[in-house]
Amino acid sequence: MARILAIGPHPDDLEIGMGGTISALLAQGHEVTMCDLTNGEPTPRGTPERRAEEAAQAARILGVGWRVTLGLPNRELADTVDSRKVVAEVIREVRPEVLFIPYWVDAHPDHVAACALAEAARFYAKLTKTEMRGEPTYPRRVFHFLCTHYRLHVKPTFLFDVSDTFERKLEAVAAYTSQFTDDRGELWILDALRAENRYWGSLIRRPYAEPFIAREELGLRNLDVIL
Ligand SMILES: [Zn+2]
Repeated sequence: MARILAIGPHPDDLEIGMGGTISALLAQGHEVTMCDLTNGEPTPRGTPERRAEEAAQAARILGVGWRVTLGLPNRELADTVDSRKVVAEVIREVRPEVLFIPYWVDAHPDHVAACALAEAARFYAKLTKTEMRGEPTYPRRVFHFLCTHYRLHVKPTFLFDVSDTFERKLEAVAAYTSQFTDDRGELWILDALRAENRYWGSLIRRPYAEPFIAREELGLRNLDVIL
């Protein structure tokens, strides 16, 4: 069993990028904490209260017991020393072995900043002789999920099979009615996610998968985990 911390820029990014994986990891007995760096507001149809309710509902659907939404500035998120300390304190509290953070290429500046900030915070989390709360810790692995505003075809390091949890992921994403309802009252994003995750799944001959990228190489100890 591993302790896992998944960090996203805004409430909804984690669900889009890795909602199926979060649900699958929980079912496999891992501990997963979600952390949103900002409350995601303002947006055209959202309010801070409504977005918070949607985020809580999505976490309930995925089965996540602990979701932290930090008050870092939406639309102006930056990798600053002060913000690193805020995020590092969360890492020191959760003490994860594995960290999931956004991919580093994105049209949305908050997403680019979130990646840089989370990577820096991971390093800060191990610092000694600091006024930061908690004891030093260093997550062993960092994996990047895709929630990018570019239409990219990134070569993943691995594809996580989410065939058993994909419908739950869609349900969690559908909690964000303030974000994804079009003029006809339809949740446009669900079709898009079905197509994307089905495509990634087809590459491993499974119904659905979510892609992840690692800057470092992955090692195997046996062949049992390969699909
Ligand atoms: Zn976002």
